[in-house]
Amino acid sequence: MSVKTYHGSCHCGAVRFEADIDLADGTGKCNCTSCRKRRWWSASVKPEAFRAWEGEEILIPNRMGTAMFCPGCGITLFGRVAKAEWNDGESVSINVACLDDATPEELIASPVTYYDGLNDNWWEVPSETRHL
Ligand SMILES: [Zn+2]
Repeated sequence: MSVKTYHGSCHCGAVRFEADIDLADGTGKCNCTSCRKRRWWSASVKPEAFRAWEGEEILIPNRMGTAMFCPGCGITLFGRVAKAEWNDGESVSINVACLDDATPEELIASPVTYYDGLNDNWWEVPSETRHL
């Protein structure tokens, strides 16, 4: 695969965005209670590969400030991740389930990296991932 421009939106359509993503670069799932309950499945891109078209100003940040959900439909669309010691600079973490033009085949083909956030053991794969 290669970089493709995808169009994303929430369920009610109040928020729309566009992002250049190479799904072959991989996606992520985490077993922490926040990610697990939201069924969060993400792809990470640099800020310059992400364009919020509509509605970002209405989004409500979660308590950690990392994910933004729509007040109209409750869908978490994306989160802006600040530069930190543990990452290689700012990024935007996108809910791949919000990508309206990503095909099931493209999503299935995307390699998934699992994170053991539940045990604050982010660099290890959790012992069980099938429920994520
Ligand atoms: Zn919405």
